Amino acid sequence: MLPADDDTPEDFPLLPGMQPHDRWMRVALDEARAAAEEDEVPVGAVIVAAGRVIASAHNQREQLADPTAHAEMIALTQAAAALGSWRLEQCTLYVTLEPCPMCAGAILQARVPVVIWGAADPKAGAVESLYRLFEDQRLNHRVQHTGHVMAEECGRILSDFFRQKRKIPRADTGF
Ligand SMILES: [Zn+2]
Repeated sequence: MLPADDDTPEDFPLLPGMQPHDRWMRVALDEARAAAEEDEVPVGAVIVAAGRVIASAHNQREQLADPTAHAEMIALTQAAAALGSWRLEQCTLYVTLEPCPMCAGAILQARVPVVIWGAADPKAGAVESLYRLFEDQRLNHRVQHTGHVMAEECGRILSDFFRQKRKIPRADTGF
């Protein structure tokens, strides 16, 4: 969901004690919560340009029946549409979970210069955990990244979601 046109940095104030990245990670966390409410694995992403949110999305893999419908992929498409260009060279992407290889690849393709991510993903992370795609000297683009930002909150949404899932008997879920 894209924020309304009148969303400005003042709508997302930098409160006392808040780290600069927390402001936008909170917006990504709101997206992750929206995913959980839709019974999607709760991951949220936000893209900021010139101090404004230009894309805001959450994982929709189940609803769209689309393996590529990760939060970052949807946000990249929204941002490119908003800017009228596939080159997102002035953008910062915030995401609650360490990007997977697909999303890290798309971020590289979009030339996003900075990514701020939340919880590490030991099973699929392509920034630090399994691969370090953003630092790979063989690629023609590098991405500055900062991880573990609000990692506890970002991880808790995921662990709560999966704990809730496990309470449902297997026979009722089909997996
Ligand atoms: Zn992904």
